[in-house]
Amino acid sequence: MTRPLADKYDPKPIESFWYQTWEAEGAFHVEPDPSKPPFVIPMPPPNITGRAHMGHGSTYTPMDILTRQHRMRGFNAVWLPGQDHAAIATQNVLEKELAREGLTRHDLGPEKFRKRSWEWREQYGHIIYEQFRALGFGPDWQRDRFTMDAGMSAAVIKVFVDLYREGLIYRGLRLINWCPHCESTLSDSEVERDDEVDAQLYFVRYQGVDGAPDVVVSTTRPETIFADVAVAVHPDDERYRALQGKQVMRPLSRAPIPVIADSAVEREFGTGALKITPGHDQIDYEIGERHDLPKLSVIGFDAKMTGEVEAEFAGIDRFAARTLAVQRLQERGLLEKTEPHRIAQGICYRCDTIVEPLLSLQWFVEMAPLAAPALAASREGRLRFTPARYRRDYEAWLEKIRDWCISRQIWWGHRLPVWYCADGHVTVSAATPPGCETCGAGQLTQDPDTLDTWFSSALWPFAILGWPQRTAELAAWYPAQLLITAREIIFLWVARMVMMGLHFMGKEPYPEVLITPLILDEMGRKMSKSLGNSLDPMDLVRDFGADATRFGIVSQMHEAQDVRFSISRCDDARKFCNKIWQAVGGFALRAFPELASARTPLPLPPVERWTLADRWIMDALAQTIVRIDAAVARYDFSEWSQAVYTFTWNQLCDIYIELAKDKGPTRAPILNRVLASLLQLLHPIMPFVSEELWQHLPHEGERIGASRWPTAESGRMDEEARAAMAQIMEFVETVRALRAVPKLPRHDKRPVTVAGAEPALLELLERERTIIEELARTPQVHALRNGDGRPAHALSRRLGSMEVLLPVDAAFIERERAALRTEVEKTRSEIAALERKLASKGFVEKAPAAVVDKERARLEECRSLLTLSTERLNSL
Ligand SMILES: [Zn+2]
Ligand SMILES: [Zn+2]
Repeated sequence: MTRPLADKYDPKPIESFWYQTWEAEGAFHVEPDPSKPPFVIPMPPPNITGRAHMGHGSTYTPMDILTRQHRMRGFNAVWLPGQDHAAIATQNVLEKELAREGLTRHDLGPEKFRKRSWEWREQYGHIIYEQFRALGFGPDWQRDRFTMDAGMSAAVIKVFVDLYREGLIYRGLRLINWCPHCESTLSDSEVERDDEVDAQLYFVRYQGVDGAPDVVVSTTRPETIFADVAVAVHPDDERYRALQGKQVMRPLSRAPIPVIADSAVEREFGTGALKITPGHDQIDYEIGERHDLPKLSVIGFDAKMTGEVEAEFAGIDRFAARTLAVQRLQERGLLEKTEPHRIAQGICYRCDTIVEPLLSLQWFVEMAPLAAPALAASREGRLRFTPARYRRDYEAWLEKIRDWCISRQIWWGHRLPVWYCADGHVTVSAATPPGCETCGAGQLTQDPDTLDTWFSSALWPFAILGWPQRTAELAAWYPAQLLITAREIIFLWVARMVMMGLHFMGKEPYPEVLITPLILDEMGRKMSKSLGNSLDPMDLVRDFGADATRFGIVSQMHEAQDVRFSISRCDDARKFCNKIWQAVGGFALRAFPELASARTPLPLPPVERWTLADRWIMDALAQTIVRIDAAVARYDFSEWSQAVYTFTWNQLCDIYIELAKDKGPTRAPILNRVLASLLQLLHPIMPFVSEELWQHLPHEGERIGASRWPTAESGRMDEEARAAMAQIMEFVETVRALRAVPKLPRHDKRPVTVAGAEPALLELLERERTIIEELARTPQVHALRNGDGRPAHALSRRLGSMEVLLPVDAAFIERERAALRTEVEKTRSEIAALERKLASKGFVEKAPAAVVDKERARLEECRSLLTLSTERLNSL
């Protein structure tokens, strides 16, 4: 290492230097190596439109950390990156760009639009990768994949064709979710539910036909009345017994419709009579199927009224039609009443437009045969979730799974490998077919639709390894060992990967799924643009460096609880970097020239020559390693970072380094071992600062990331040293507390006197007097024996059966007593005043709650202050 270590810690130069060095050296590149156990994490492919957000901080940082750590543990560890073409998301972004040029995608047409999408990807697709580099993420960039690259596309087409041949992909007229803005279908998982939408519930009279009684139906969507094909009641509902099997008059586009009985009707909802509109509602669709009812459609793909509606409604928007329908019903005397009502509304996950259920001829995957093995995998423990509670969500979804609508009217994506002849026969083929499979006609048209973007990502774990080719990567790295992702995509992505993996590879794509926590703001609210409380991880990197950003994020991730994110933790982490920097550069390398000059680690002296402090710090190191290994095993990143932090701060810097200032002969090799191990333990979380410092210490190997992960044997367990040091530190803390009273400066060394000490303890204090002198600033510990006089003026404190006395001059004691008495008096009167105030009803009831709370807090503060002052007064 020729570059000198900078005096001050500054993350910018070291982070850019090391990232470039590692990438140029291929430090992240891995070849399959069957001699080592594999550790493979497929990266959830970020969208090409994506930018790094806090979710990447909490989800991708652990992937990087675990990959680095497993590599150090001797695994064939690889993090496989890639990007998603993100059909709808990209199309939305491009359409906005086109709108600024006064164009729509229809002005371009599909071919030009696709070309433009590729150009957009070339230009902006790499931005999120640059941000990942700035965050220190080290996936194997040479293995970067894209869901629309040639290999992935071939895999997608093969899967479609195979599933079609197996009868698991079919074309059908079904009720689908339609986004009028995106002009495309959406799968059920792409529809977000807004459960708190204020709406109206309309009570509409349907008149009885041929002497049947009238019935009042409640609905939130009167504009769909035109498409009503029945009224349904619960079979056991006494109120409507006479009505079952009769007919009532549809009040808009008047026509008689039957009253049917179905147990899916909720008797408690509205009037208990439901209008049945199979063409515009999923539940009605299912009821309609059971009763063989026709399906009418009165809203078009442009969300405007069409079909069998009264003439004045034709061509008007669905929401304007609602207003008009209510008006007409009122005029006809058929609107009984209107009530405010809260509804759940389906909205498009990409553009927030209200989704319209519409009848349409689309392509579907039959899910039940694929879901059964995926369900078994979890029930039989071959697929595990951390935290375990997500297993329930996963299984519940699979149990009630419905067929997956996979055709999209989006232009950016994989075209369906489907062709039609003039007679409408379907030919499915991986390559352009020469003619119709059914009639041989030569003039074929390819289906213009593309596949759901999640269809390709469902194949991710095996398609990125070259499937269907039998590659070495596929043999070595499928299945992966771990998937780390966010809870929002358990259904959209995780479950579908399991289904596809089991179907095409015969094995789950990973045995374990770690669901990372949500990053909330400090008040526990979701981060959102509208609240203005979002954090940009790139701002954190700019302000604190990537190491501190990573540490700040993961140190708050405790056992997958949602994180109330505090920026101050990044600031703490930066100070922590500085602390380690000073320990290595400011102390170790300066105090011990042999550390600065040696090339290989200094050999440890035989244990018999170690001092108590040496034995103790090596024991603390061994314990820290055990603690970290246990934390890693349960993905507790908070515990891991806390373990390194407290070891460094409390044990290494506060105690051992203070003692090592004696430059004893064992100090340099022990420091070498302890510092190097500490940097290794920190490296996966803080890759840059650990590499920079490790390079300046004597070490083995080229790069810290390729060095061996420490084991407990890197330190040395030593219960005896641990116990002895604990006793010494108790004594040191007692003396420090005493010295804090007159605020003695560090250079003021002062002997102390002890009374009633156990002989064993006295002997220990005597033997380790250099430690006592350094840490307690006490050159001598006098033991009072029977008959010895106590010091005339001394502060005293008890430690177990022993009394520790710090001699001070008489004048100090007097001054201090007087000051403390004044303080005690002042505090007592403030307490009395506060107690009076808080006992007054007028104050407690009338003052704002925040003010009352503040006064209560102050009272608590005063009470503990009083206890402290009284204790100090008594010790004088
Ligand atoms: Zn949309
Ligand atoms: Zn044909």
